[in-house]
Amino acid sequence: MRLLGAILSICAVPVARLHAADAAKDAPEVARLLADVIRIDTSNPPGNEGKLAEFLKTKFKPLGFEIDIIATPQEGKAHFIARLRGDGSKKPVLLAGHADVVGVEREKWSVDPFAGLIKDGYVWGRGAIDFKGGLAVFAQAVIDIAKQKRPLARDIIFLSEADEEGGLYGTRYLAETAWDKIDCEFALNEGGWIIKDATGKVQYVSISTADKSGITLLLTARGTSTHSSMPRPDNAIYTLARALAKLSSYETKPKLTDSTREFFLTLSETSTEPMRTHFRNLATSHDPKLVAAADKAISENTLLHAIMRNTIAPVLLNAGFRTNVIPGSAQATINFRIIPGTTPEELIQEVKGVINDPRVEVTQAQGSSTRAPLTTEQQKAMEALRQSARRAGESPKSGALYEALVRQAKLTYPEAKVTPYLFQAGTDAAAWRSRGVPVYGIYPYPISAQDLERMHGNDERVPVASLESGLKLITNTLLEVAAK
Ligand SMILES: [Zn+2]
Repeated sequence: MRLLGAILSICAVPVARLHAADAAKDAPEVARLLADVIRIDTSNPPGNEGKLAEFLKTKFKPLGFEIDIIATPQEGKAHFIARLRGDGSKKPVLLAGHADVVGVEREKWSVDPFAGLIKDGYVWGRGAIDFKGGLAVFAQAVIDIAKQKRPLARDIIFLSEADEEGGLYGTRYLAETAWDKIDCEFALNEGGWIIKDATGKVQYVSISTADKSGITLLLTARGTSTHSSMPRPDNAIYTLARALAKLSSYETKPKLTDSTREFFLTLSETSTEPMRTHFRNLATSHDPKLVAAADKAISENTLLHAIMRNTIAPVLLNAGFRTNVIPGSAQATINFRIIPGTTPEELIQEVKGVINDPRVEVTQAQGSSTRAPLTTEQQKAMEALRQSARRAGESPKSGALYEALVRQAKLTYPEAKVTPYLFQAGTDAAAWRSRGVPVYGIYPYPISAQDLERMHGNDERVPVASLESGLKLITNTLLEVAAK
C-alpha cells in the first residue's frame, strides 16, 4: 500500500500542476492581471508600492495613457496615476485603489500568499479581496475602455495608491503634493459589499457613501507611587481596572445615518423573520424597547453592531516598571470608531460620565497608532490625517456616478437589492471627501460571508466569476458616466 501510495502521489503532483497551469492560462484577463498584481509583494510596512507602479506602467503606457509616478519621501513608495484623455467637456472621473496589503502569517496559509495561484475557480493570495482584486477590476475596466478607443467626454483617471494600510504617505500626502493630478468630479474606491447568500445568489449590493473614522482616547489613572510591601487603597492599576470594567459593560446607543437607515431597511426586505422585523424596528421604530431588542439581536453580527454605533475597543495597556514598586499611574488606550458627526469632545464627555471617577483622566491620544514613538513631524501628519477623516462628510446619494452605479448594479445583479452604506472602518477616501469631492465605495465582486472573513486573514481568495461580473459592472458604470 505504501508503495502504491508513493506511486500515486508521484503521478498526482505533475497532473495537479498541469491543471493549475491550465486554469491560469484559460482564466479571464482580469483574473490573470490580479494574479500578476498579487505576485508583487506590497506588504506594508514597507509597502514597496513603487514596484507595482512600474508593473502597471508597462500595462497602461502602450495604450496611450498619460502616466505619473508620484514618489514619496520613503524610498520605494510611490503612487501610480494613469489618465485616459476625454474631450474635457466634463470633469474627470477617478478610480482609486490601494496597492499595499497587510502582512501574512505565512505558516497559517495553505497556499503561497504571493504566488498568485488560480485554482478551483478562485484567485488566491494576500490582497485578493482587499484591495488588489478591486485594483485589478478597476485597471481592467479602464484598459478595456482604452482598447475600445471609445470617445470620452471626460478623462478617466486610474490611481494605485500607497500607504492605505498604514504609513504617512497615503492619499492625504498625494492630495497635498499633486492635487491637480487627482482632482475629479467624483470617484470610486473600496467600501461597500456585493454579498452572496449561501446558495450563491447576490443578496444585496451596498455602495458606501461615508466611512467611519477613528478617535483614540487615553484613560490615565493616578495613585500613590510607593513600595509594594505596603499597598494602599489608591493603587492606580486597580483604579484603571475599575474604570475599564465600567466601560466593558457599557454600550453606546445606535446612531443611524440616512445611509445606514436605508441599509437596515434593505436588510429587512432581504431577510426572514424574526430578523426582518428587528431590522425594520431598528431603522424606523420610536419605541425604545423595540429598538433595544432589535439592537441586541442584530448586534450578534459584529459588522452590523459596528455600523450602527460608535464602537469602543481597548487596545493598549501601560503600567508599572518593576515588581517592588507600585506605579503612580496606569494608562489604557481605547480606540473608538465613530459615526460621522461625532466630535472628540462629545466622546470624552460620554466616557467620563461612564467612568465617573475623578482619579481617571480622559484625554485624546496624539501620535502613533503603535507603541513605536513618532517624530514631531510624523505626529503632525497623523493628526492632519485624523482631522481630514473627521471633516469628510457623507457623499450625496445622487449625481451621475452614484446613479450609474446603482443602475448598473441592478442590471448586473437583477435579483439583488441596492443600498447605500456606511463603511465600518476608515479608507483613504477622506482626501477627496474632505475637499467636497463625492467618493463611492465598492468591493467590485460578489463575495460570501465566509470568504469575507479571510480578508486580512489567511487563504484570502476571490472567485474568478465574481471578478468577471464586477468588471462588467464597473466598465458599464464608467461608460455611462464618461462615454460620449
Ligand atoms: Zn482596503
